[in-house]
Amino acid sequence: NTGYVYGATRSIGGICGDNSATLQGCYNVGNVNGKFYVGGIVGESSGSGNTIWIKDCYNRGNVIGDTKDIGGIGGYIGSSLVENCYSQATVSGNTNVGGICGNSNKVDFQNAYYDSNLYTGNAIGYLKDATIKQTEGKTSQAFESGEITYLLQEGREEAIWGQTLSGNDVQAYPVLGGAKVYQNITYQDCAKDEAHTVYTYANEQKQESYDYTLQEVKAKEPKCTEAGNKAYYKCSACGKLYADQEGTNEVSANTVVVPAKGHSFTWIIDREATEQAEGSRHEECSICHEKKAAVAIPKLPSSTQPSESPSGSPSQKPSEAPSQKPSGSPSQKPSGSPSQKPGQDIKVPAKGTKLTAKGASYQVTSAAEKNPTVVYKGSKKQKASVTIPDTVTIDKVTYKVTSIAANAFKNNKKLKKVVIGKNVTKIGKKAFYGCSKLKKITVKTTKLTKKNVGRQAFKGIHKKAAFKVPKKKISSYRKVFRARGAAKTTKVTK
Ligand SMILES: [Zn+2]
Ligand SMILES: [Zn+2]
Repeated sequence: NTGYVYGATRSIGGICGDNSATLQGCYNVGNVNGKFYVGGIVGESSGSGNTIWIKDCYNRGNVIGDTKDIGGIGGYIGSSLVENCYSQATVSGNTNVGGICGNSNKVDFQNAYYDSNLYTGNAIGYLKDATIKQTEGKTSQAFESGEITYLLQEGREEAIWGQTLSGNDVQAYPVLGGAKVYQNITYQDCAKDEAHTVYTYANEQKQESYDYTLQEVKAKEPKCTEAGNKAYYKCSACGKLYADQEGTNEVSANTVVVPAKGHSFTWIIDREATEQAEGSRHEECSICHEKKAAVAIPKLPSSTQPSESPSGSPSQKPSEAPSQKPSGSPSQKPSGSPSQKPGQDIKVPAKGTKLTAKGASYQVTSAAEKNPTVVYKGSKKQKASVTIPDTVTIDKVTYKVTSIAANAFKNNKKLKKVVIGKNVTKIGKKAFYGCSKLKKITVKTTKLTKKNVGRQAFKGIHKKAAFKVPKKKISSYRKVFRARGAAKTTKVTK
């Protein structure tokens, strides 16, 4: 209907005044004016028990009622199904006024819309036993854009609703028949939720489009001090990270980080140490070549006699020897240790350093500051009586004499008497080999065993040699000395 509809009393409708049959595919564009039960399609519609269908109808004529039950589609609707309808019109009345229906009883409203810019009230004026699905006011713009057409058609194959949306014959509202309307989707963000999705309508279906991109961030190898990362994709809209280009596996920022590897330092020798000069070395990363500060390499121990000894020994002998002998060991010890303690800058020569004192030669076997030790190597001149001291002090350092070198007195035909100090724990092989005059051996140490007395250490000493040893060692030392070459005729006593 396109004409003006007017009635002075009840049940006035654009298509039907008092309906009790199916209304489908109808439209009204004429204004409708009545007293009560006034509607754009039907004034009053009631199936008296049977369900009446009002389907795929629209009203675009303004609806004016004097009193009550005034609606865009129907004034009063009972026992009906109202589906896929719209009203784009002003609706006015006194009570029970609705954009779709004024007064309803036992009605299912489904997929019905009214223009909420033209009528600002509710969809249904008065409800009783009604169900309402997708029935609501929509803006004029929604009618113009094609959205309402798309909703009314609601995926049905058969073309019922259409609207020309572009070109010269653009239609501003849904019509029955007409050009099919498609919904096109633009995602603004990887979230793809309603808040970030824009729907547009057109007479052609377009591909889903995206206002964001997932930008690839390539994998980066970690360096010594710089973290790397695995390959990932980053949303240009919100910055979320994904393991895949499709944006299905979201990952957190710290799971894509590959930690820095740390330096791989190795020592590099810049200059080898010599006997004359310190060397130098530094740590350097074999990957990035970062260098640490250089450190010194100590001088090598000299393989020749220290240069001081030739000049030192002549001057030492006359002054020290006479004064030491009378006072003996008790005077040496107290004088030695106090002078050592404060002199912390006194340095013990490196292991292997050769030293001489009182005509005897020694070699450093441990340069430990608290307990330096030397081996007794021998004496320059053959003497009849030799004492291997408990300790020896050279250049203010006091060493324990802990061993006698191999061959130290080998074939010494002058040696008659020897004292072995209490700190000796080792006697090298053939130390007294062939000392045929050696007859008196005083052993102060208690630490000798077969293991630490070398082979043939006492082979060839005087057949009647007498060992004086600590009392508790008599029997064990007898075995040790005989095993190391002393004749059975030698004596071992306390
Ligand atoms: Zn995003
Ligand atoms: Zn490095």
